[in-house]
Order: sequence, then C-alpha cells, then structure tokens
Amino acid sequence: MAKGPKNQAPDLSNIRNIGIAAHIDAGKTTLTERILYYTGASHKIGEVHNGEAHMDFMAEEQAHGITIMAAVTQCPWKDHMIQVIDTPGHVDFTIEVERSMRVLDGAVIVLDGVRGVEPQTETVWRQATRFDLPLMFFVNKMDRPGADFSRAMETIRKRLGGEPVPLCVPLEDGRVVHLIDKTLIAFGGNLGQEVHVEECDSETWESVADHREALLLAAADLDDDIALLVLEDEDPEPEDLWATIKQGCLDLKIHPCLGGSALRNYGVQPLMDASLRLLPAPLERPPATATDHNDEEFLIEMDHTQPLAALAFKVQMWEGRRHVFARLYRGKLEPGDQIHLPVQGKTERVARIFDVDAAKKKRINAAYAGQIVLLAGLRLATTGDTLCDPEEPILLAPIQARDPVLGLAIEATSSKDEEKLLVALTKFQEEDPTLLLEEDQETGQRILRGMGELHLQIAFERLKREFNLDVRAGKPAVVVRETISSSSSADTVFHRVIDQGETQLEMKAGAAASVAPRDRGVGIEITVAPRVLPPGTTLTPEQAEAVRSGATDASSAGPLQGNPLQDVQITVDSVTLYGTASSPQAVRVAVAEAVRKALGQAGGRLLRPMMSTEVVVPEESMGGVLGDLQSRGALIQDTRTEDGISTIQCDAPLDRLLGYTTDLRSMTRGRGQFTMEFDRFDVA
Ligand code: GDP
Ligand code: MG
Repeated sequence: MAKGPKNQAPDLSNIRNIGIAAHIDAGKTTLTERILYYTGASHKIGEVHNGEAHMDFMAEEQAHGITIMAAVTQCPWKDHMIQVIDTPGHVDFTIEVERSMRVLDGAVIVLDGVRGVEPQTETVWRQATRFDLPLMFFVNKMDRPGADFSRAMETIRKRLGGEPVPLCVPLEDGRVVHLIDKTLIAFGGNLGQEVHVEECDSETWESVADHREALLLAAADLDDDIALLVLEDEDPEPEDLWATIKQGCLDLKIHPCLGGSALRNYGVQPLMDASLRLLPAPLERPPATATDHNDEEFLIEMDHTQPLAALAFKVQMWEGRRHVFARLYRGKLEPGDQIHLPVQGKTERVARIFDVDAAKKKRINAAYAGQIVLLAGLRLATTGDTLCDPEEPILLAPIQARDPVLGLAIEATSSKDEEKLLVALTKFQEEDPTLLLEEDQETGQRILRGMGELHLQIAFERLKREFNLDVRAGKPAVVVRETISSSSSADTVFHRVIDQGETQLEMKAGAAASVAPRDRGVGIEITVAPRVLPPGTTLTPEQAEAVRSGATDASSAGPLQGNPLQDVQITVDSVTLYGTASSPQAVRVAVAEAVRKALGQAGGRLLRPMMSTEVVVPEESMGGVLGDLQSRGALIQDTRTEDGISTIQCDAPLDRLLGYTTDLRSMTRGRGQFTMEFDRFDVA
C-alpha cells in the first residue's frame, strides 16, 4: 500500500477488496491458490486434493476439502494490492459469506464451465445483489470435456437474470483471447506463471467474432458515442471500451466474463488484470447507509476528515488473543483511540492496528476511511458492531444473522475438563454468532446450537485439535417451537389466603381469556378486550399492567412440551376484581392461569424447522431421489432437468434431513449435491 506522509490518508486507489465466491467444487480454492502464487503471496501452489491449500489454513477445512473461514490475504499485483477476502462454500457457513460480502468492494464468482450456474451460485448472487456488489465471472474448468463458455454465460442470463459480457475467451489449446486488447495470451512455465501476450491473428480473431460483437453491443447499450461507432461498423478505442465496461460493472448493469482453467493454469492472470481495471477501489463505492440517534437514515461519505464510523465484521482468536476485523466507512482511527459501540452502549479503547493478512500482521499508525484493518485490544466489539466516535454516535446497518436450528448435547468426557470446555465454547461463540451455547432448563445439559450438521461437527473437531478436549456429544436434535391447533376460551378464579403471623393476606382475582391460531410465521399477538370490566369499574394502571404481564407470562411456553410458542392470538376477555384482595399480583396470576388453561384446551402442535432445499442429481437418479425425499416429508416445489442434470427444489423438515449427505451420496454414486437454508418453523 502506498504510504503518504505522516497524518495523511494513504492513497487507496490501488486497493481492491474482492471476494471469490462459488458453488462448492467450482474451483474457488484452486483459483485462489493461483492468485496467491502468481502474486508471490505464497511460494508454492497448494492443491486442494492434497489437503494443503493455503487459504484453507484451518486443519478441519483441509480434512473436509472445503473452505470455512473468511480470512483476508494481501496479494500485490502490478502496483496494486488485491485483498482477497476468502468466502466459504458450504451453506452452513452463509454467515461467513454474508459478513464478507458486506465489506467487499467487488467479487468474482467462479462457475464450473460444464455446469454453469449452480444452486449455491444463486445464493451467492442474491447476497451480492443485496449489497450492490459489482461482479465478474470466471468460467473455470474449461479444460473439462463438455465445458462450454457460451452456455455457461447463458446460464448467468437465464438463472440469475444477470447480463454476462464476454471479456476473455478461452481457446481449446489453453490460450485465451482478450476481446478489448485484441491479444492472444499464452501461459508458459510449469505453473502457468509466464504470460506471453501477442497481437491476435486474424484467423483466431475471426473465431471469436461473435463474442467481440456481444461485447461491442453491450458497450453500445451503455454509451451513446460507442453506439454511434458500432452503428457505423467502426472500432471504438480500447480505452473507451474499458471505461464504459467499468462503469457498467460499477452500475451493476453488466457482468464481465472471463474463461480459463485454474487447475491447468490458464486464464488466471487476465482475470487479476481485469479485476484491477473493472472492479472498484474502496473510494469508488457508493456511500454506506447509517442511522443516527433519532433513527433517521442517511448516507455517509467515505471521508477521513469526519468522525469515525466502522463496522466490525469478524472476530478471530489469534495466538490466544482476540482480534477484530473492521472496515472503516468514515473517519480515521489511531491506536489509543476511544471507540463507542452504540449497540452495546459501551466504550472501549483500541490498542493496536494492523494491516490485514491471513498469516502475518504488520502494525500501522492509523487507519482511514475505506480501509480494512485488524484491531487488537478490544474486549467487547463483536461481529456486526458499529465502532464510532463517542461524540458522534451513529449506527451502520447490522449484519444479518440467522437462528441456529440444530442442537447437540455436549459434555467433556472427564468432568475436570468441564471448565475448559466452557471457555473453549465461549471463544467459538465470539468468533461465530451462529453458534449458540445454551443450557437445557430441564436436563441441565449443555446444548451447542448451530446452522447444520457440518457446522457443529467442525466445532467439535476444533475442540479436539485446538483445545485437546475429549468431548461426548448426543445425537443432533432440531430446535422446535409450538403453536395451537384450534381456538378455545377458559376462565378461572385465583384465590389464596396467606398466613402472615398475626394477620392474613387474601389474594383473589378472576379472569377469562381466549386463544386462536394465527398464520404461520406472524408471531404472537396479545390484546386486551376494551371492556374487560363491568361498566363503572376501572383498573388501576398497576392492575392494567398486570393484565398484560400475566398474558405475556403464559405466552412463553406451548401447551405440549413447553417449547417456545408462536403464531397465537391471545385475548384477555374479562377480569373480575374482588376489592383490596385483587392486588396487581393477584390479577397477574389469574390472567396467566386463564390463558394457560385456554392454551391447554386448544391443544398444541409441534413446529419443526423447515428448510428450503435444493438437490442436484444426475438425471437417472431423479426418480429414486424424489421418492426418498417424499418419504422424508418433503414438499416438492419444482423440478427441472437440463443437460442430464436434474434439480429438485423442495421444503423439507430439518430433522428428516440429518445424515442426508451420506444417503444422497449412496443414491447417486457420489454425484448428488444438496444445499439447504432455514425457511420457517412449520408443522411437518
Ligand atoms: P471449491 O470447493 O470451489 O473451493 O473448489 P476446489 O478448488 O476445492 O476444487 C474442486 C475440485 O475441482 C478439485 O478436485 C479441483 O482439483 C478441481 N478443479 C478445480 N479447478 C479445476 C479446473 O480448472 N479444471 C479441472 N478439470 N478441475 C478443477
Ligand atoms: Mg474451497
């Protein structure tokens, strides 16, 4: 990074904060390894299938062959710094993707050249679109038989509704044609590190004429001057094409596409060049949205002379110390500065600031708007927190987290390790807001909750490896809720006389309540009928408050097993008062009793987590897989088959999907894949 004189913001125009996202197995890790190698950020290429990829630096990731932790790695490239923020590919870890997306300036989506857009590509696309991220596509695996650059681009249009624009076309011989520069690029050396660029010969140029035409037409749509030239069949200047394509990319109107093969080492450097030219520098991003202390929304400019506004997007333990990754959206931060955390209402001090990198840290004297940095010394700031100037409280939009829906009873094999286990799990929770440690009220067991089986399994393995803890885990169990199956009403009179030595305290109150089911997902509504008392009488403010509290007390647990209740209308129909015996406390108990009685009569129903699920299998396995899904209680929403690959979309109860990965593999001879995302609590 170019350093300005002391106390002057660094020039950020040469920085690109980019993410690389993909459906699992599209080749994201393989591609990232190339980028690290070519930029000198790593000295050898670690291959995924040997379990040695550099970005997957956690042992579990290597064992599972997937990427689960978003780490930032700096890759110097042609006088620029590409900061790659690794995003994981498994749906259990979408929170990792989401919090990375939040701080990225642009992203490269990797597609499998044979399969094109896949289910998780759609998830990533949705997330990226929500954050208005400029996107490019790398159509990977062009060495595979059946790979087709044009068809893969077509799936971007058809399945994502994107606007693919070809930029670098891969040829069968492992070279690529650059459609703006009109060059033919070859990759030599044993790892593709030697790039040979020459003017494209007319025969090859002719073979990519359709792609060049598509590029020109896309540029003509974006710019009137280019449109005129194209109309007259004249060639626009390369510089003008670059500028127009970049603007289109920043405005999210088009998505430049480049092809190649990460594994066979071709097409990667043109992708890196293009990300410098087409993806935005931090200060080219639109202003972020924030709310002030009056809840007014407004936009903040990335201006380092104004008060601090930063977002903590990841907490990571490093050499036993807590570190917070943060992106500055406004202002400047120096070691020793006090920062305010408006969500927690607390203030703390930053001790050290570092440049970000996955493996090594470099101390810096200040951080400025637009930068992503690593902070040490913060004990409270956690994922999603806004960090701001104590004098100028401001709230940046928080990071959305989802409820963990799968739980696992967990205990140390040896009781002397219990404390160590608690410490370890508390640390995990700090790093990952979708892991939740809870105690079962009835059994006293410790339950670890997460987003899915793999998520929990990996936490489990980390306990062994990082903390040397031997733990026993119960069977995974899904989190359940309750609702009621019919309407009902009940009344009750609460009466108790309490001896207080000399005197007696009488408590007495009556109440009637009714309950009714509501639509799924709308929650609980409590109302008090306008005439709860006979005409002429009124409730004191304390009694009125007690009516509400009584109904709220009873609404916390369902009638079946006492699980959290939802989707119920509760109405307090009437209250009967008995003079001074009807203290607020008596009223509260009476109302709670009446509501509980009504809920009990209405009958409970269990609600299970329903997952919106997508299963992709070879066409010939479709019948068997569909039948199996139906036997698991899945509601099939949609099926489609294209090029021998069938996609099934369904809603399925999570408890019936436990172990599905293994079953699906055996039904499809290892070729099936599925992704799921929590949708709602519903009757199975
Ligand atoms: P990720 O899940 O997206 O990170 O994908 P990986 O990088 O782990 O790659 C998945 C598999 O595809 C691995 O076996 C890679 O060796 C293989 N692979 C990656 N890129 C290519 C490619 O360009 N061509 C071919 N034929 N295979 C590739
Ligand atoms: Mg990977």
